[in-house]
Amino acid sequence: MNESIESRLEEVRTLIADSCAEYERPEDSVRLLAVSKTRTAEEIMTAFTAGQLCFGESYLQEAINKIDQLKDTEIEWHFIGRVQSNKTRPIAEKFDWVHSIDKLKHAQRLNDQRPDSMPPLNICLQINIDNEETKGGIKPEQAAEMIQQISQLPRLKLRGLMTLPSPTHHIDEQREPFHRLRELRDQLATEALPLETLSIGMSDDMEAAIAEGSTMVRVGTAIFGPRNYQNKPK
Ligand SMILES: *Cc1c(COP(=O)(O)O)cnc(C)c1O
Repeated sequence: MNESIESRLEEVRTLIADSCAEYERPEDSVRLLAVSKTRTAEEIMTAFTAGQLCFGESYLQEAINKIDQLKDTEIEWHFIGRVQSNKTRPIAEKFDWVHSIDKLKHAQRLNDQRPDSMPPLNICLQINIDNEETKGGIKPEQAAEMIQQISQLPRLKLRGLMTLPSPTHHIDEQREPFHRLRELRDQLATEALPLETLSIGMSDDMEAAIAEGSTMVRVGTAIFGPRNYQNKPK
């Protein structure tokens, strides 16, 4: 229970390396994004000092507070939460990646608001792979058109696809939606729309995601322990 962030981080790295070996993938083909929503700047600093470079945040105000506190570090910040139209500017100004784009309007705003002094903002399209009404993400069949539109926006760099399937427990069940996302990626590549990033896999389904070609796993609980939602600002 009282394991340190350093030792949990090491366990997650080992799990990723073991899964890469198991599924015959190069060990450096999967990046680890540490999901730090509800965690303090101190906890993030502990993981950063232990060699973790990328951090993912879901709640904008909380994220901005921490980014400002940690602005003297080289941390790469990824926004993975729901994007709201009236709050795109701080995302455009403070983040390196956004994984959760599901509206062209949001992409256009981020493009217009991205400062010229910064490199293009890296973007993943969120795909609603199970067609769940309550979830964010576009339908798989809308992906090609949205990719073409986003490719026209010079201040954005389209990197890949993200999905957040409903939780299941057995690895074969977990692989199934990831497999469909990977097929979508492969299909798009045949239509001259190649994307290198598959942002899939969390604490409980990392191995399934790596088996299906994940290039970035988004891991919170397995690194930082159970979330404390009391830290989340209103
Ligand atoms: C919270 C969150 C994660 C991390 O989930 P864990 O189960 O804690 O690893 C990954 N992706 C998204 C989009 C999240 O909101």
